[in-house]
Amino acid sequence: MASSSLRVSNLCKRYGDFVALAPTSLDVAKGEFLTLLGPSGSGKTTLLSLIAGLAHPDEGRILIDDADVTHSPAYARDIGVVFQNYALFPHMTVEENIAFPLKMRKMADAEARKLTAEALETVRLPHVARRYPRELSGGQQQRIALARCIVYRPAIILMDEPLGALDKKLRDQMQLEIKRIHRELRTTIVYVTHDQEEAMTMSDRICLMNAGAIEQLGTPEDLYFRPRSVFVADFLGESNLLSATVRDVDTEGLDIVLADHEAQLRAVGNGSAFTAGEPIKVMVRPQNLVVEDAAAGRGRLTGRLTDVMISGSLTRLYIAPEAAGMAPLVAAYPTRSSAAPYEIGQLVSLGWNAADAVAIRDAKGA
Ligand code: ADP
Ligand code: MG
Repeated sequence: MASSSLRVSNLCKRYGDFVALAPTSLDVAKGEFLTLLGPSGSGKTTLLSLIAGLAHPDEGRILIDDADVTHSPAYARDIGVVFQNYALFPHMTVEENIAFPLKMRKMADAEARKLTAEALETVRLPHVARRYPRELSGGQQQRIALARCIVYRPAIILMDEPLGALDKKLRDQMQLEIKRIHRELRTTIVYVTHDQEEAMTMSDRICLMNAGAIEQLGTPEDLYFRPRSVFVADFLGESNLLSATVRDVDTEGLDIVLADHEAQLRAVGNGSAFTAGEPIKVMVRPQNLVVEDAAAGRGRLTGRLTDVMISGSLTRLYIAPEAAGMAPLVAAYPTRSSAAPYEIGQLVSLGWNAADAVAIRDAKGA
């Protein structure tokens, strides 16, 4: 199956005075699975619609395999689109629905039947060919919508929250299905979701959007372990964000001092250039916050346990730091029945491995 690269260059979309998409540039490699992730209203659908040719940019260019398609009509772009509510035609059978784009392209019946059967095999629903959409479950309907998209073998597939209407279990299953289909077809996919777990599971790279602009673009690991902003740290997974001041910077990382506290700790950078005296945020994931009995005395930061919550495989400890002005912290570790029980109100010491604490420029503090 064909697969194309995609380049978006300074693409911009306004509605009156409102900037739905600030000038945005982005490269998607041939065969890559790229996810646009972000809260509602961050411009994901706007960017996707511009790429699809369903909306027109105020500025900027779109290139597919280096050919400028900025002003090409949607049908001439060799792009397939799957939306959350991409309604199937109710009066047509599954087979007729899938063959529809081929009929539109005036393909001969025999060839259309062959490709339709192949598409049904790919989405693993060959036995529903003669049924009507109303006779299918939500998950099956979404697979048929996917089959109708892949049947004409577009070089790029755009998906806008395709699993948004499905319940959690079905969504997990469909995520794996879409990944399998991507592996089989090797088509370039730009996928939209507001669900960070879905983005982490599925993507080669994630483009995190915020208020009509790219906040950070990188692999799931980049964004999770090296967030460039507080927004990214907050959006992907659980995190503790501590206010701190840079004391010293060396090649390995940073010495930091926690606000209103003498505790001196280490952190690593996220690629930004930090300077001594600068106020920063330090991100520590709950699973990397090391909690010990205060008696152990090794921690340089102390707090009182305010809550212990067991949510299946993870146990979460909620901790109020003793230092004034510090926000509550959460630590998490795998639940073990053999673990010594914690007591609410207990004094604990807190610490981390330097590599697990990431310094982030504090936009508000700067
Ligand atoms: P997302 O898909 O990330 O939820 P959208 O791209 O749909 O966000 O929308 C981005 C912003 O642009 C939103 O604030 C939305 O209200 C606005 N917007 C989108 N389409 C239009 C339109 N046709 N007219 C005016 N504003 C729009
Ligand atoms: Mg949207």
